[in-house]
Amino acid sequence: MSLTGGFERLLVAGAPADVRIRVDGRAKRISIKVDRVGGGITLTAPSRAMIPEARRFLKSRASWVEARKAEAVEPTPFVDGAKIPVHGILREIVHDPAAPDPVRLTDSAIIISGSTDLLPTLLTKFFKAEARRALKKASDRHAATLGLKIVGLTIRDQKTRWGSCSSSSKLSFSWRLAMAPAYVLEYLAAHEVAHLRHMNHGPKFWKLVAELDPNWRKAEDWLKRHGPNLRRYG
Ligand SMILES: [Zn+2]
Repeated sequence: MSLTGGFERLLVAGAPADVRIRVDGRAKRISIKVDRVGGGITLTAPSRAMIPEARRFLKSRASWVEARKAEAVEPTPFVDGAKIPVHGILREIVHDPAAPDPVRLTDSAIIISGSTDLLPTLLTKFFKAEARRALKKASDRHAATLGLKIVGLTIRDQKTRWGSCSSSSKLSFSWRLAMAPAYVLEYLAAHEVAHLRHMNHGPKFWKLVAELDPNWRKAEDWLKRHGPNLRRYG
């Protein structure tokens, strides 16, 4: 059984923090999670009886929690005036209700038309379409190099992964990748296409990735450095 508990105000390293207490019967042990976006703390206990022990565990890990909280970034919603990356370049959201195109890109701005309440939807739709266009093109090309064919490609908001590949040759990618530079999408397409040959991360897999995309290291490096930050937007 899994159930979600409420919030408790607890002292973490001398400062009060609202900690979400979760009881999860499938959890093997007590664990702490600090959200990368917003810095929210979740304390998970395998049973209700273990909550007091979980509180003590949190106290013992206070300095670790502090450090994670210091690294956390504030969420950046899709609103007029916010700065968001598009194709690897930071651009300002400009809401212009009378603009002829739903979404238009300039060097420094992304101009969104229509009513204010539609802005987040239009922007997310734009990112999904951009991600699909670029990733489809790159995946088809990499697949053709290997004499393979992509059966399906879906764009979603994957929480933990940028891309994935099923055994039935279907690829899926996160729409947030449209915020990244083009070479990152090139690499992720090569990565997932290479999984059509090798369903693992062994030496043969990485050799094939390097053949498909010689810039793969640069892209991996970008994702390591900037990838987690992309989750703050929208
Ligand atoms: Zn992989």
